[in-house]
Amino acid sequence: MSEIILKGIPAAPGIAFGSAFILDKQEFVIAPRAVMEKEIPIEIARFEEALIKTRDEICSIQKKISAQMGGKHAQVFDAHLLVLEDRTLVEEVVKRIRAEKLSSEYIFSEVIKKYVKIFMNIEDEYLRERMSDISDVGRRVLKNLMDEDKLHELDNITEQLIIISHDLAPSDTASMFNKSIIAFATDIGGRTSHTAIMAKSLGVPAVVGLKDATLKIKNQDFIIVDGRKGLVVVSPTEETIKSYEDQLSRIHEYRNQFMEIKDLEAQTNDGKVISLLGNLELPEEVHNVMKHNAGGVGLYRTEYFYMNRVDLPSEDEQFEAYKMVTEAMGEMPVTIRTLDLGGDKFISSLQIPRDMYASLGWRAIRFCFERPDIFKVQLRAILRASAYGNIRMMYPMIAGPGELTRANLILNEVKEDLRKAGIPFNEDMKVGVMIEVPSAAVTSDLLAKEADFFSLGTNDLIQYTLAVDRVNEQTASMYEPCHPAVLRLIKMTVESAHKAGIKVSLCGEMANEPILALMLLGLEIDELSMSPNSILQIKKLIRSVSFSDAKAMVEKALELSTGKEVEQLSSETLARLAPEFVSHD
Ligand code: PEP
Ligand code: MG
Repeated sequence: MSEIILKGIPAAPGIAFGSAFILDKQEFVIAPRAVMEKEIPIEIARFEEALIKTRDEICSIQKKISAQMGGKHAQVFDAHLLVLEDRTLVEEVVKRIRAEKLSSEYIFSEVIKKYVKIFMNIEDEYLRERMSDISDVGRRVLKNLMDEDKLHELDNITEQLIIISHDLAPSDTASMFNKSIIAFATDIGGRTSHTAIMAKSLGVPAVVGLKDATLKIKNQDFIIVDGRKGLVVVSPTEETIKSYEDQLSRIHEYRNQFMEIKDLEAQTNDGKVISLLGNLELPEEVHNVMKHNAGGVGLYRTEYFYMNRVDLPSEDEQFEAYKMVTEAMGEMPVTIRTLDLGGDKFISSLQIPRDMYASLGWRAIRFCFERPDIFKVQLRAILRASAYGNIRMMYPMIAGPGELTRANLILNEVKEDLRKAGIPFNEDMKVGVMIEVPSAAVTSDLLAKEADFFSLGTNDLIQYTLAVDRVNEQTASMYEPCHPAVLRLIKMTVESAHKAGIKVSLCGEMANEPILALMLLGLEIDELSMSPNSILQIKKLIRSVSFSDAKAMVEKALELSTGKEVEQLSSETLARLAPEFVSHD
C-alpha cells in the first residue's frame, strides 16, 4: 500500500509511530463464537443470568440516585429496565442462539445493533433518544456476559496503540490516563476541545478534525501521528519513517535542554517575573505538575470527577481528592474551579439531554444555580480541603457581577453551615472569577470590586467573542486567538484587575503556545497556567525575551485590524527575539 498523508488540526504536540486501532463506540465489536448443540441451553442460561445481574445493577443505581437526588432523576432508569424486559428483544436473542448456534454475547450484540439502527432512523426525537438507553443497557449486559477484558472498549486496551475514532468525548480521553495509548486522531474536533486539552495533559500527540480518518485508516495499519503539524501518515515509506525518526531525536534533544532551567524563575531578561502554573484534570496529574516545577495549580477542572461513572461524586470523595492535591502542592496555590459541566463535557450520571447544556445553554454556573444540591456538596468539599493548603476557588462562565454575587451568597450559606457544625476551613480562601464570556470582560471593572482574582479562560472567550464553536473542525480557521476583539477584551480585563489591585491569570490553551505566550506577556498577564508538559518550554521563552519588547509588540498589535496580521507580527517578533522557538514547537 502506498503512503497517504491526512491533514487535520494539531491538538497536542509530539510524534508517535504505531499500530492503528479504530475505536467505533457505537458498535459492539464481538467476534462470533460457535457453540455445540449441547451447549445451547448453557448459552441461554448465561444470557438470562446476565439479564438478571444487569437488572439488579440498574435497580441499585436507581436506589442510590433516588436517595441522593430524588425519585424524579431515578426515573430515567425505568427506561433501561424496560429495555431489559422487552420480550421481543429477549425472545429474538434466544431464538437466534438456538438457530445459529453462536454465543449469546455475539447474538445479543447483533440484536442490539439492529435495534440501535432502527431507533437511529426514527424521526421522532424522543424515540430517537431511546437509542442511547438501548446502547447503555446493551453494554451493561455484555459486560456481564463476557470477561471484561474481552469487551472491545478503551478501558481494556493493554497494547501500545494509536486510537483512531470519529470523536472522543473528554470522558473517553480521561480514561486513557495510565493506559498504553501512545497517540490519537479523530475525524472531528477543534484545537481547544477538551479532548485535545486532555491529550496535552496525557503527554500524547494528537490530531483532530481529520474529517474521514476512520474511513481511510484500517485496524492495524502502521501510522505516524505528527501532533505538531496536524498530520497522520498512513503506511509511511522507509524514507518518511527515517525522516520522522530524525525529527523525534531532535525534539528530544531540544526538550532535554529545558531541564537545565527547571529550577530557575520565569524571568525576562529585563527582570519581569511571571508565574507559570499547571492545569490539571485528574488529581493524579498533580505529580506531573510538580515534576515540571510549576508555581501551583492555576486551573483544576473538577468536572472530570463527575465523568465515567453512574453516580455523583460524594462530598468526602471530592474532599479527599482536593486535599490530596493541595497537600502535595504545599504552600503553592491550587485553583479549584467549580463544576463546569457542559459544552463538550458531558456527565452521564445526570441523565440530562446533551442539547440542554450546549455551549450557549444551561452549563457551568447556570447549572449550579439551579442545582444547589450538587453545587453545595462541591463547595463544602472545597472549603473543607481549604484547611489543608493554599486553595483558591473560582467560578466558571460568570456572565456579569449579578452572577458573582449570587454564587457568593450560596458560598456564604455553605460557610455558615460549616461554622455551625464546627468544621474547619480557610476563612480567607480567595474566590475568583473565570473571565471567559465577553460580557464578563466588558464588566470586569465591576467584577473586580467583588472578585479576589481573575482567570482568563480564552478557550471559551475566543469562541463566544467570535461566535466560532471551539470544537467544530469546519470553522477551525476562524477560531483566531489573535483576533483584535480578543486582544482588546484581554487588555480590558487586565486593566480592570490591575486598577483594583487584583491579579489576572490566564488558563486557556493560548498559554501553551510560544507565539501567543509572547503576546500574553506583553499584555501584562500576571500568571500563565497551562498543560504541565508545556511549562518548561514557556519558561525558556520568557527567559529569552524582554518584557519591554513584548509590550512594544502589543502596542503595535493593538493598532492592527486582523488576527492574521497580529499573528504575523508576533511570529516575526518571536523569530527576532528567540529564533529557536520558530523551528520547534
Ligand atoms: C477556557 O475556557 O479557556 C478554560 C480554561 O476552560 P475550559 O477549557 O475548561 O472551558
Ligand atoms: Mg472555559
